[in-house]
Amino acid sequence: MPCLYYAIYIMAKTFKNCSFCGRTESKVDFFIMGQNGAHICNECALQAAEIVKENSISKSKLLNVKKEDVPKPVEIKEFLDQYVIGQEEAKKYLSVAVYNHYKRLMQENTNDDVEIEKSNIIMVGYTGTGKTLLARTIAKKLHVPFAIVDATVLTEAGYVGEDIESILTRLLQVADYDVKAAERGIVFIDEIDKIARKGDNPSITRDVSGEGVQQGLLKLLEGSVVLVPPQGGRKHPDQKMIAVNTQNILFICGGAFDGIEKKIASRLNTRVVGYNSILDNEQVDKNNMLQYIAPQDLKAFGLIPEIIGRLPILTYLEPLDHSALRRILTEPKNSIVKQYIKLFGMDQIELVFEDDVLNYIVDKAMEFKLGARGLRSITETIIMDKMYEMPTKKEKKLIVDLEYAKSKIEKTNFNRLKIA
Ligand code: ADP
Repeated sequence: MPCLYYAIYIMAKTFKNCSFCGRTESKVDFFIMGQNGAHICNECALQAAEIVKENSISKSKLLNVKKEDVPKPVEIKEFLDQYVIGQEEAKKYLSVAVYNHYKRLMQENTNDDVEIEKSNIIMVGYTGTGKTLLARTIAKKLHVPFAIVDATVLTEAGYVGEDIESILTRLLQVADYDVKAAERGIVFIDEIDKIARKGDNPSITRDVSGEGVQQGLLKLLEGSVVLVPPQGGRKHPDQKMIAVNTQNILFICGGAFDGIEKKIASRLNTRVVGYNSILDNEQVDKNNMLQYIAPQDLKAFGLIPEIIGRLPILTYLEPLDHSALRRILTEPKNSIVKQYIKLFGMDQIELVFEDDVLNYIVDKAMEFKLGARGLRSITETIIMDKMYEMPTKKEKKLIVDLEYAKSKIEKTNFNRLKIA
C-alpha cells in the first residue's frame, strides 16, 4: 500500500516513547507518527502487521462463510457421484450433514432462541467400500478445515499410544494452527469400531483401548474446551497446549464393525418372533444386513450408549457387488483405468483394455476377496511388464486382451493379498 508509506513520518529523534510498548527513542530504530501525538516504534508496527495478516487469513478463509458460497446438498452429492460409485444413502446423509454444518456456522448472526445443534455422523460399512474415499472426496468440496484421523492409535491417557486430544492436532495442522478456523472444522474418525469395548459386559479389568478411549472421545463429541498438544502424540508437562472448543466441530465416524451383521440378525429375529413385527411380511436381504443397522446394534458391538447418543446420524455403505466393482474400474473421475491410460499417454502410448479383461479383473478381485482395493493391484500386475518395456520401444499402442491378462495373473499368487 504505497499511500500508507507516503503517510508515514519517520520521527527518529522527535518523540520520547512508543505509544504501544513504551520504549524510548534510544531503544528503537525509528517511530511512525499517528494523529494527536500518538506514535508506534518499528518493532510494534511489525507485530501489528503480523496480527492483521493472521486475522485476515482466518476471516477470508473460514470465518465468514457466505450463504451463496455454501454448496447445496444436491450439489455436494453430485460432486461425490463423480468419484464414488453407488453408496447413495451414505452420500445423501453426508451431503445433508455438511450443509447443515454450514448453516450452524452461520446461525450466530441470527437473533432468535433456536439453536441448531450439531448432528455427528457414524457410517458403518465393510472395509474397502468407500468410507474413507467419501470423506476424502467431500473434503475437496469444503471451505472448512477437514482432517482424517485413525482411531486405532488412540489409547487412554497414560498408556502407549496417542492421547484422544491428538485427534484435534490434525485439524489444527490442517487449519494452519488457526484455532478459530479449526473450531469450525470437520473431523473424520476412521476405524471407530477399533475402540469398541471388547465383550458386551463392562470390563472389570482395565480396557486400555476401549471404554476409556470412548469416555475421552465423548468429551470431544459433546462440545467442550479441550487442551490439544500442538504436535500430537502424548501430552507432556512442558508442552504448551492449545485450547480448542469442539462445540462447532462436526465429527464423522466410520468403521467396518466386523461381525455386526450377527448382532443385527439376532435383533431382527427376536423382533420377528417376539413381536410379530413388520418384518413378518418383509424379506430380509441377507446379503446386505447393514441396511437394517440400528443404534442398539452398535451398543451390542461395544460402543457405549453415551457415544451412540452423540452420533445421532447412523448410515451404512452397501457391499460392492460385481457391477459396482466394474463401474469403479472405469467410471470415477480418477478411475484406475483412466489413471493407467494417463500414465501410458505420457509416453505417447495409447492403452486399451478389452471389455472382457475388465470383467476378468473384477472376477479376480471377488475371487480373492480383495474388494475395490484389489482392482488396482490386479490391474497393475497385468500391465507391469508392459510398463517396464514399452517406454523404450517404438510401439505406440497397447491393447490388453484376455489371453494376455490371464497369462500374467496365473503366474501370480494373489492369495497372499487376501483380506478375509
Ligand atoms: P474403506 O471403506 O475401508 O475406508 P476406502 O474408501 O479406503 O475403503 O476404499 C479403498 C479404495 O477402493 C478407494 O481408494 C477406491 O479406490 C476404491 N473404492 C472403494 N469403494 C469405492 C466406491 N464406492 N467408489 C469408487 N471407488 C471405491
